[in-house]
Amino acid sequence: MVQPYKHEPFTDFTIEENKKAFEEALKQVEKELGQHHDLLIDGERVRTDATITSTNPANTKQVVGTVSKANAELAEKAIQSASDAFDGWRKWSPRARAELLFRAAHIIRRRKHEFSAYLVYEVGKPWSEADADTAEAIDFLEYYGRQMIELKEGKQIESRPGEQNRYVYTSTGVAVVIPPWNLAFAIMAGTTVAPLVTGSTVVMKPASNSPIVAAKFIEVLEEAGLPKGVLNFVPGSGGEVGDTLVDHPKTALISFTGSRDVGTRILQRASVIQEGQKHIKQVIAEMGGKDTVVVDNQSNLETAADAIIKSAYGFSGQKCSSGSRVVAHQDVYDELLEMVKERTEKLTLGNASEENVYMGPVVDQGAFDKIMSYMEIGKEEGRLITGGKGDDSKGYFIEPTIFADLAPNSRMQQEEIFGPVVCFTKAKDFDEAIEIANNTEYGLTGAVISDNRQHLEQAKEDFHVGNLYFNRSCTGAIVGYQPFGGFKMSGTDSKAGGPDYLTLHMQAKTISEMF
Ligand code: GLU
Repeated sequence: MVQPYKHEPFTDFTIEENKKAFEEALKQVEKELGQHHDLLIDGERVRTDATITSTNPANTKQVVGTVSKANAELAEKAIQSASDAFDGWRKWSPRARAELLFRAAHIIRRRKHEFSAYLVYEVGKPWSEADADTAEAIDFLEYYGRQMIELKEGKQIESRPGEQNRYVYTSTGVAVVIPPWNLAFAIMAGTTVAPLVTGSTVVMKPASNSPIVAAKFIEVLEEAGLPKGVLNFVPGSGGEVGDTLVDHPKTALISFTGSRDVGTRILQRASVIQEGQKHIKQVIAEMGGKDTVVVDNQSNLETAADAIIKSAYGFSGQKCSSGSRVVAHQDVYDELLEMVKERTEKLTLGNASEENVYMGPVVDQGAFDKIMSYMEIGKEEGRLITGGKGDDSKGYFIEPTIFADLAPNSRMQQEEIFGPVVCFTKAKDFDEAIEIANNTEYGLTGAVISDNRQHLEQAKEDFHVGNLYFNRSCTGAIVGYQPFGGFKMSGTDSKAGGPDYLTLHMQAKTISEMF
């Protein structure tokens, strides 16, 4: 029997022993930095002349590691290898595939701080965010393994006398997985093992900002017993490797997490039937967000301020779930703004590989420049309350920032900034607050802070988001507890960490026999 699923607990870094253990892991990983990782195609390591260098965004001189860089020809080979391996892998029993995930989860659990330390160096995560990212990766392995065991007999359907009907799920084929750098471990691992456990074979192109943690994860899956060709690892550019993988006639499924622009481009390309293609490609796309925390006049403002801080600044606002908008009732607007300002000014910003800061840098120069350009737009469109400055001399540091008095349709309140910037808008009443909350093209997460039950019931009906939270932050969904995915331009509402997720990767087959 498999134990019932429970999510992996987070580490409490206020306990001295945990703090010491994490500092030790940071030191240990620092000694390993700079290593090179090859591509993996058909079970063979492939070294290329071209490489991708991963650096620490908190200290850009520090090289975290390098990976070989694939091109179109190697991407083609990777698809071929996944295609060749499919028939053998799909015949592994679902239970055996699930057990491989459980073994991988055990390996990671034993090396938990090591993986989190890599996240600190590679994407600049503060400790608690890195720890949560690793915990979520473990959760995806444990949860999807159990889901596959549950699905192995298919689902109950009816049969008439003299008839035997069955409804089962079959494996799809070659899956292309293109994960993001923000949940660099969790989403990369989750989107890779979901197709794997269902019997598809995978070609994974990691995000160029976080290929090292992905390379480390590949090693774990190999150690857990993954046969050759079943998972292929091809870092490379989106334009060359990404397009080759998406366009390939043998690609059956594409699982993408990232920006709206890239996601919609993939959806378009995947709809084009290529020569020799004998199936329709399935696309799972998890894209952007412009998520709102609504604060009612009847509400606990301490709860509201804490929720806003966590939603806006967790991992420097670099989550598609980040609460980058606050829409507050006019009665509490000024007081709430003052409370959030006070809390924001107490947050620590720095290099998490040196100290346990609240917030680290943003991920790269492109992100830094983009977010800083919004500081100017914010000053034109609204009122800068605190923050607004950045420093990219050593790493890509941006102060936690608040803008106030923004019009609901301003660029600051419509465009995804993906940085530590939160924008306040005043609403005259709760109805208007929900209307403003809904007025973006996204529909991923949202929070309502209210003690008014009628308003909470109204939000259940009218607040159009995939993940709706009451009296808490709008980030931090837990696998198996808060299945995660959004509406509108936020994606295909494929709920990661939820009971329907694996079936999106499979094809249902009805088998009916008369006797
Ligand atoms: N699932 C994460 C959360 O609930 C966010 C994922 C993302 O940003 O891509 O905060």
